[in-house]
Amino acid sequence: MQTLWKTDPEVARCIEEEINRQDRELILIASENYASPEVLAAMGTPLTNKYAEGYPGRRYYRGCEWADRVESLAVERALALFGADHANVQPHSGTQANLAVLMAALKPGETILSMDLAHGGHLSHGMKINFSGGFYDVVSYGVEPESGLIDYGRVRDLALRHRPRLIICGASAYPRVLDFRRFRQIADEAGAVLLADVAHIAGLVAAKLHPDPVPEAEFVTMTTHKTLRGPRGGMVLCREAYARKLDSRVFPGMQGGPLMHVIAAKAVAFGEALRPGFAEYQQAVVKNARALGETLRARGFPLVSGGTDTHLLLVDLRERGMTGAEADVLLEETGIVCNRNLIPFDPLPPTKTSGIRLGTPAATTRGLGEAEFRRVGEWIADVLEAPGDAAVRERVRKEVRELTSAFPLYPSLRAAWARPG
Ligand SMILES: *Cc1c(COP(=O)(O)O)cnc(C)c1O
Repeated sequence: MQTLWKTDPEVARCIEEEINRQDRELILIASENYASPEVLAAMGTPLTNKYAEGYPGRRYYRGCEWADRVESLAVERALALFGADHANVQPHSGTQANLAVLMAALKPGETILSMDLAHGGHLSHGMKINFSGGFYDVVSYGVEPESGLIDYGRVRDLALRHRPRLIICGASAYPRVLDFRRFRQIADEAGAVLLADVAHIAGLVAAKLHPDPVPEAEFVTMTTHKTLRGPRGGMVLCREAYARKLDSRVFPGMQGGPLMHVIAAKAVAFGEALRPGFAEYQQAVVKNARALGETLRARGFPLVSGGTDTHLLLVDLRERGMTGAEADVLLEETGIVCNRNLIPFDPLPPTKTSGIRLGTPAATTRGLGEAEFRRVGEWIADVLEAPGDAAVRERVRKEVRELTSAFPLYPSLRAAWARPG
C-alpha cells in the first residue's frame, strides 16, 4: 500500500510493523489464527461503504443487489458447512452473537446456567459486569477439581434446582471434548433451551473432529476468526422455529448496518472451509496440540485435565512457583506469544493467574508440524525452568527466529506494505 506511506506514514508504519511482528513471532494464543490473503482482500474492499440494514431481499436501503448476493452466499455456505436450519452471519463478534441469542431466548431477569469464567467460560456467558451478568440471573457450573473435566452430575443438579430458561455450554479455555448430547438431556429434564457456544472449536466442528452441537442445541454461536480461520466476526445458527426471532434480535435488536466487507470475507472463509484441505489442517491442529502437550508433560509441566482433545492446552504452573503473568512475559522475550490464564480453582486473580493457555491454530496455519511443536515444547520448558537465566532466553529467541523464518507468513503482503525506498 505504497500510497498510504505518502498520505499517512504513521498508520502505514503500524500496519507494516504488525505484519512483521506476526511473521517474526511464534503465536500460540489459542484464539488467534492467520486468515488467508483472500479473506483479508475481501475485507479491504468497497463493500465496507454499503449500508444494508435488513436481510437479503428485505433491506431498508436501495442498491443492495450485490450485498444481497454476497450475504446469501455466506449463509448458504455456512449451512453447507454446519448443516443447520438457519444461519445469521451479521453479528460483528462472538459476544454480539451471544447477546442476540440471549435476547431471543430470555426476558431480562430470567436465569442462565453457564460455565464459570474462572473454569474456562466466557465473559458473555454471565460475567458480572458484562451485559449477560447485568440483565440476567446467572448460576454457574465448573469442572471437577481432580479431573479438570466438566462435572455433568453437578450441571444436572444445578439445572434441576434453579430451572434456568437457558443453559450455555462452550468455553474459552476447556481443552476437552464437550458432551453436547449430555447437555441436551439435562436441558430437556430442566425444561431449558440450549446454547452451544463453539467460538473456539468451530473449525474442529466443521471438520468433524469434535462432536456436532447442531443436532443437540436450539442455538449454536461461534466466532469466525479462531479455528475457523475467517475474518473477525460472529455467527449464529438456530432451529427454524427461532429463525425470525433471532434475526430480529440481531437487527434491529442489537445492531444497525451489517459489515458487508466482513460478510464477504466470511463467505470466502466458509468456501475455504468447504474444501478438502481444511479438514487436513484441523487434523494437524489437533495432532500438534497433542505433541506440544506430551512434550510439556514429559518435561514435568502438568496440564489441566491431563492433556487435550482440541487445539488448546492449559499449563498449570503452581508447582513451579511462577505465575502465568510472569511466564507469558518471559516467553514473549523469546518471541513465543501466549496468554496467562486462570486455571480451575486458581488461588490467584485474573491479572496474575497460575496458568498459561497455549494453542496451535495459528502456527499450524504457517505449516508447523509435530516435530516443530515438540521443539516449541522444549523451548517453553527451557525458558520456564530457568527464569533467572537470560542466556537461555537469548538462545531460544534465536532458535524461534530461525523457525519462523523457515515458515514465512504473508510474503506478498509484507512486500506490499514495506516502507518505500
Ligand atoms: C472468543 C469467544 C467469544 C467471543 O468472541 P469475541 O469475538 O471476542 O467477542 C465468545 N465465546 C467464547 C466461548 C469465546 O471463546
